[in-house]
Amino acid sequence: MRQMVRMKGGGLLLPCAVLLVGLLSLSSIACFPGQNDAENVVVAVTILPQAAFVEAVGGDRVETVVMVPPGFSPHTYEPTPEQMMQLSRAAMYASVGSPIEFELAWMDKLISVNRNMLVVDCSYGIDLIKTDGHHHDQDARNHDEHGDQYGGHGTDHHHHGGPDPHIWLSVRNAMTMVTNICEGLVQVDPEHEREYRQNCAVYLEALQRLDEELTAAFEDLENRLFIVYHPAFGYFARDYDLEQIAVEQGGTEPDARYLIRLIEEAREHDIRVVFAAPQFSTRSAEVVAAEIRGEVVLIDPLAKDYIPNLRSVAAAIMQVT
Ligand SMILES: [Zn+2]
Repeated sequence: MRQMVRMKGGGLLLPCAVLLVGLLSLSSIACFPGQNDAENVVVAVTILPQAAFVEAVGGDRVETVVMVPPGFSPHTYEPTPEQMMQLSRAAMYASVGSPIEFELAWMDKLISVNRNMLVVDCSYGIDLIKTDGHHHDQDARNHDEHGDQYGGHGTDHHHHGGPDPHIWLSVRNAMTMVTNICEGLVQVDPEHEREYRQNCAVYLEALQRLDEELTAAFEDLENRLFIVYHPAFGYFARDYDLEQIAVEQGGTEPDARYLIRLIEEAREHDIRVVFAAPQFSTRSAEVVAAEIRGEVVLIDPLAKDYIPNLRSVAAAIMQVT
């Protein structure tokens, strides 16, 4: 008898406790709007510069999930199972959209993890250019989609006459990418459309100013050539009427004949710097640099901090042109 009373009492206490916890959590949401993770729009992106774009437009409302982590290349990276799991929370995936290996190989699988994700193609509205086959078209135009091209024993030939995937390194292209991201955010979170469009306009203005600044800075250069190990700066070069000469050919280490010609050309134009990226091996770049009595300088095609990074890339290239 006593026991039954106790049980009744316990039974009454429980709903009260649940109600209390419920009230507490309600009040904490009311007091701290936006601090609850569940309220954020989770946006997945392929590369770090896109995360900068998403955060510029989405501000505090978004949380980004980056597929290719710092230090890795979107030409070769493979996502981990943990990363695939993270996609189940995403409302949107902003793909680069240019034919870049990570997406060619993985996009279908990434989408299959979360069919509710809105997939935004950041390249929509961007004219793709062909990778520059500067001075040599002697190789067959193979087109493998896979390959460990930066380990020095790769077989990837996408950089040879195919569309150049590095669209984000043009500030003008970046403006289109940001606009596409903004449209996507408006679609998945229409409630905050005004905010997204305002942020977008502010960031586009900053990009516009950067582009004007770089256009002016590159205007009166005499030498417009620069040598880079991995040809990531084709769109950048196009925008400012420069010419990138790649050491790497067809996504692989160059052959001796090509290297000799490249070194001759560098000497002819008195080029003393070979640019390399922190994500890739600098071995061949160092060989060329030694031959021209120059040095290897790192510029990062994948840094997250987009505007300052493009500014320092430009400053580095300006030093040698
Ligand atoms: Zn690349």
